[in-house]
Amino acid sequence: MSATKDAKPQDYYDRIKDKFAEERDLRLKYRPEGTAQYTSDLTGELARYEIDPYADDGAARAPIHDTVECLFIGGGFSALLTAARLRERGVASIRIVERGADVGGTWYWNRYPGAACDVPSYDYLPLLDEMKVMPSRLYAKGPEIFAHCQAIARRYDLYDLAVFRTTVTSTVWDEKEKLWRIGTDRGDMMKAKFVICANGTLSKPKLSKIKGMESFKGFSFHTSRWDYDFTGEDLSKLSDKVVGIIGTGASAVQAIPRLGKAAKELYVFQRTPSGIDFRNDRPTDPEWAASRRPGWQEARRMKAMRIREGDPETKAELAALSREDKIRRQENANIDMMMRIHRRIEEVVEDKATAESLKPWYMFMCKRPCFDDEYLPAFNRPNVHLVDTHGKGITEITPQGPVFEGRTYPLDVLIYATGFEVQKTGIYNQIRGRNGIEINETYKDGLRTLLGVHTHGYPNLFIMGGYQASFQFNLTFMLQTQGDHIAECIKHAREHGYDTIDVLPETEEWWVQQVIEHRGKTTRNQDCTPGYYNFEGEFNRRQDGNYNGGFQQYFEHMTAIRQQLDKHFEFS
Ligand code: NDP
Repeated sequence: MSATKDAKPQDYYDRIKDKFAEERDLRLKYRPEGTAQYTSDLTGELARYEIDPYADDGAARAPIHDTVECLFIGGGFSALLTAARLRERGVASIRIVERGADVGGTWYWNRYPGAACDVPSYDYLPLLDEMKVMPSRLYAKGPEIFAHCQAIARRYDLYDLAVFRTTVTSTVWDEKEKLWRIGTDRGDMMKAKFVICANGTLSKPKLSKIKGMESFKGFSFHTSRWDYDFTGEDLSKLSDKVVGIIGTGASAVQAIPRLGKAAKELYVFQRTPSGIDFRNDRPTDPEWAASRRPGWQEARRMKAMRIREGDPETKAELAALSREDKIRRQENANIDMMMRIHRRIEEVVEDKATAESLKPWYMFMCKRPCFDDEYLPAFNRPNVHLVDTHGKGITEITPQGPVFEGRTYPLDVLIYATGFEVQKTGIYNQIRGRNGIEINETYKDGLRTLLGVHTHGYPNLFIMGGYQASFQFNLTFMLQTQGDHIAECIKHAREHGYDTIDVLPETEEWWVQQVIEHRGKTTRNQDCTPGYYNFEGEFNRRQDGNYNGGFQQYFEHMTAIRQQLDKHFEFS
């Protein structure tokens, strides 16, 4: 992060930091219960929030009792791009077990209006080179990305053995047979030599626990289960409806402009505003597309990674600074960024009080940055109303609608844009390794992995997108890196005729220490306002969370490990 040209006195930055701290404390005061303020146990009265509105009825089938070589839990990008690499290495027997009725993962579920990627499509959509396709625009829309997922599944023959509308409920290692036994909610008992947990970082919808939420008499759903039968494909059925949306994270930011245009009235219940930057979306330039040569996407991603990690000159300059100076310099640059976001709000939003309410008071990257050119202007519409709950959030819902400060907001429709449970291995299933120990039990004093992928005692099991891996805003690049690594591990085992691959405890311990050592090196720490990036303000386990040593370093560690697999893993 480079220093700003027109540097301001330090006390300017310190005052803003104090204001950030005040806002954070307010949020923590209102919701001291951390992650427990949410529920992802969507059963009983809440079960309807998880029903798949996109699958048709039926799909009855007999339980499956066969054996495959590689089994993926989940059918999103993690599975698709790893499976592609396995196919390239000659693996024939690959099964995807997926909860939805098709592949696609996040792009299967998230079909809310305005859904699109927030990373340039040329970086975000994986396997563009291999598939010989070019996205239609800089930020591809949800349906195009979903179609790309389906195309990958077809191209690599992943539909043949795939099992949809099926949730894995148990994954148990059979030491005698050297196989995993996978149980599902459909009565299956499949066997697989290798299991890849590809069930997504943010795949299980969660709801804020709000008093009386079950009593709401209107229609309600979660953004990841958008009910187009109710709203109409073009949202035209909302034209006579009063709609409310709880939450202003990345999903809401994309949906709100479209809802604002369609609904009779729209109430946006905000607890913490998102930081909204420019999007500047545009169609792909056909000349540019035609000039891409094989290998262009990989080269582009690698270049972007190097730029993000800093050029050698800046790195050398930073190395000369004390840790404190380094942090201060980064924080000041982050504050400059946030103040630029504030100025944009002042320029766009006409009503002064609304503009003030929309200003985020936290460090850049404390929360997920958002990009939309229609979000802020939506608040200039006479039918769009911001209900600023000043960090408190909605705490009560009556049969008519949400209540804030004694006022009830009667609604026809209430949309929960309250996010997802963050990756917790074993969300959907009980993973029992050697000695029958469930993986969460192994992690009870803190996560233990190598690279976020391998855990000792769980042979032939690979975890994708989990904690202790590096964070990448372009998630698919990170997943591709893991997918390449996993495919290489499996190839090594196959080529040498090994039955099992298990990380050595000392290598795992080395990685846990790496994660601990790099904790607190980013702004995503206890100074941040709560959100899912920092476990809603819970900081009790020092090795839980991402590896913060930088993606390039993660990548280099992974490459080095792969070159010496026999040193870091036990093969048998
Ligand atoms: P988030 O977890 O980011 O947002 C949840 C929202 O609900 C927050 O604004 C939260 O407020 C609010 N909230 C929770 N409880 C209450 C309450 N009681 N009253 C009022 N507000 C409440 O979920 P999203 O689905 O928006 O996004 C999750 C992630 O998914 C993103 O961060 C991103 O990684 C990914 N995503 C990516 C997209 C893309 O790439 N195009 C698009 C959409 C999502 P508070 O901030 O105060 O906690």
